[in-house]
Amino acid sequence: MQEKLYKLIDFLRENNEYYSKIFDKFRNRDLNWQEIPFLTRDQIYKYGLSGDKKLLSKNLKIGYIFSTGGTTGKPKYIAYTFEEFDLVCFYLAHCYEGIEPSDIVANLFMVGNMWASFISVNKALEKKRCTILPIAGNTEYTLIKSYIQYFKPNCIVGLPTQIMQVLSIDMNFVKKIYYGGEKFLESQINFLKNMGCDFIRSGGYASVDADIIAYQCKDLYYDQHHIFVDHQIVEIIDINTEQVIFEYEKVGEIVVTNLDRYLCPVIRYRTGDLARWIKPKCNCNLPTIELIGRYDDWIRLASYDFYYKDLADALYPYSVSLKVNRSQNVLTVLIKKDKSLKKLDEEEILERLKNSNWQLKEGIENNLITVRVEYVEELPKTNKRVNVIYE
Ligand SMILES: [Zn+2]
Repeated sequence: MQEKLYKLIDFLRENNEYYSKIFDKFRNRDLNWQEIPFLTRDQIYKYGLSGDKKLLSKNLKIGYIFSTGGTTGKPKYIAYTFEEFDLVCFYLAHCYEGIEPSDIVANLFMVGNMWASFISVNKALEKKRCTILPIAGNTEYTLIKSYIQYFKPNCIVGLPTQIMQVLSIDMNFVKKIYYGGEKFLESQINFLKNMGCDFIRSGGYASVDADIIAYQCKDLYYDQHHIFVDHQIVEIIDINTEQVIFEYEKVGEIVVTNLDRYLCPVIRYRTGDLARWIKPKCNCNLPTIELIGRYDDWIRLASYDFYYKDLADALYPYSVSLKVNRSQNVLTVLIKKDKSLKKLDEEEILERLKNSNWQLKEGIENNLITVRVEYVEELPKTNKRVNVIYE
């Protein structure tokens, strides 16, 4: 790994305007890794293909250009050589361990718009020699459903939101699901199990800018992933102090260095994803992270940390949104009214919340966090995946 890193640094010193300045500082002394500045989204925007292009290495042929922005907001662009992109697909194929040549696999990742996901997943699936249905999640839902009903794939890969929108309880021929991009909620996992599908595995942990980072072996739990140590250096840093966290169980932001990206290098890139180091129960003997969620779903109130997912899982099967008032330390839980379900009283809700996260429990019991509950006809619409509104 060290060798790969030094080879990359040597290349960037000679061929990359942005990084030659940074690495030149270490020319006459040892490289102190933690002195290398973090790379942020804003910098990729400013110095990458959307900006002055200083981040782009010279003397390499651009194969693909992908957009890494969503459908709204300013797009960022990143470039890969064909060799770099092939390697991403090679690692991605490893994430689909468990897909057999006899499987019929529906690819429901999003296609078009200069996005990388659909293309890379399709190439990875080719390596598994399975039968591929290249449907794409942004095809009209009725059409997706009819393709699924007609070809009866036993495996689906895609984003949880897309998968949940097209699956119905009668599609019991679907036996394997690999998901990416976001997490399944407990309620969605229960639905899939009721449908007869209990093979639900992460299709890998990737960041749109840094590409594939980690995979899930068959013995890991839903959010746990082994690092691809030949491909990425992963650090977890404290959100407040930016110091590297080495101990287990402490949550911080994932920072990655991609050892194989020469054209658009990704060195100490802040992913905005939260995770902690864990000791897995398998025997793979690899560094392992447990993903906690996006920086956006992380809630800190009265110096207690918890996550939207904690509350959503605790109040399953209700659908919930949260309003967070930081100045008064008030957490308002909005619960969508559902006639088919017994209304929970406030005491039971509080009990469930306290059981979902020990920090939230302490905050409530020490009267530092006030919880309010409101039943609403419709949950407020947010443009984020996670329903947390700050007041
Ligand atoms: Zn393992």
